[in-house]
Amino acid sequence: MEFNKVLDNCKIYEAGKPIELVVREYGVDTKDIIKLASNENPYGTSPKVYKKIQELSKNMFMYPDDSMYELKEGLASKYNVTSSNIVIGSGSDQILDFVIKAKCNENSKILMSKTTFAMYEIYGRQTGCKILKTQDDEHNLAEFEEIYKKEGADIIFLCLPNNPLGECLDRDDVYEFLSKVDKNTLIVVDGAYQEYASYKDSKKHIEPSDLIEHFPNAIYLGTFSKAYALGGMRVGYGIAQESVIKTMYKLRPPFNITTLSLAAAIEALKDEEFVSKCIELNFSEMKRYEEYAKQKGFSYINSYTNFITLKFDNKFISSEVAQSLLERGIIVRDLTGYGVNAIRITIGTNTQNTKVFQVLDEVLEELKKQENL
Ligand SMILES: *Cc1c(COP(=O)(O)O)cnc(C)c1O
Repeated sequence: MEFNKVLDNCKIYEAGKPIELVVREYGVDTKDIIKLASNENPYGTSPKVYKKIQELSKNMFMYPDDSMYELKEGLASKYNVTSSNIVIGSGSDQILDFVIKAKCNENSKILMSKTTFAMYEIYGRQTGCKILKTQDDEHNLAEFEEIYKKEGADIIFLCLPNNPLGECLDRDDVYEFLSKVDKNTLIVVDGAYQEYASYKDSKKHIEPSDLIEHFPNAIYLGTFSKAYALGGMRVGYGIAQESVIKTMYKLRPPFNITTLSLAAAIEALKDEEFVSKCIELNFSEMKRYEEYAKQKGFSYINSYTNFITLKFDNKFISSEVAQSLLERGIIVRDLTGYGVNAIRITIGTNTQNTKVFQVLDEVLEELKKQENL
């Protein structure tokens, strides 16, 4: 069977491994598995959201309110924009799909950092467009500018902070770069972890209303999957000038989130206290990882997110470390596929992290012994 030729160059997205797989393949008990591979909020969903969903579960025979009125109003008031500046997606992933479809064909170019969110490239390849990447692993605006001047681009992706590495550019530097970008280039600011970055350092904070006022060619993406603890519900959003949003609506399938997802997101927005608490705990627990890395002599990337990237340099092979952890029921993300000898660990709860350090100690000891044989 012949398919669309552009698909020959498409890779399949590899998601973090699910708990079910570890149970099946390594016989670890479900309750002993610690899943720190997908940057989910380890504190679970807010009890208020959980309660609301239980109440509303009887409504699942009905399609959701396709206007998503209440959710958009909630976001509009949180971000000080109007509903006409907002589009809702099945995760912000779906908005990425919209923006690429809106701008790209096989003659287009998209520009991104070398080691960044895999979906930019994957959706890009589905259109057959050219993928331009910087050389540096971490976001490097000088390189972005150089490539942009030489090649131009239809879309520029900035992941602020960046997944899977955790670094984050300063807003002022981003704005300075964006001021040199042509009005016909769409700028995508992926703010999946902005809640974390803004808490840690206000210089990293990007306010969507301010961004789109300064740069009418920008779209800000947010998600309920990370700080808002609704990864399984699939709700994300884009914030942009009305003309950009109108174009996104041409691409949006009807009822693109579920009745319960919509209810969950509306409720989650009302419980900011829960989100703040989770973010605070995230950074106090992250300190323990930094201490651990220092103690073991590993380098790590200063992270503005809910995960930390530990680099093994020439000390260990990250895929071996990740595999050994997996066999012991701890799921982390190996970054070999991104060309980096590192693992990305979502910051878990206090108890989970204590267990991670203990098991990681065992694993590293064992790998050292094997090497000396
Ligand atoms: C998690 C993530 C997203 C989107 O997640 P959804 O669950 O689709 O909302 C987007 N960008 C980055 C960088 C992410 O890490």
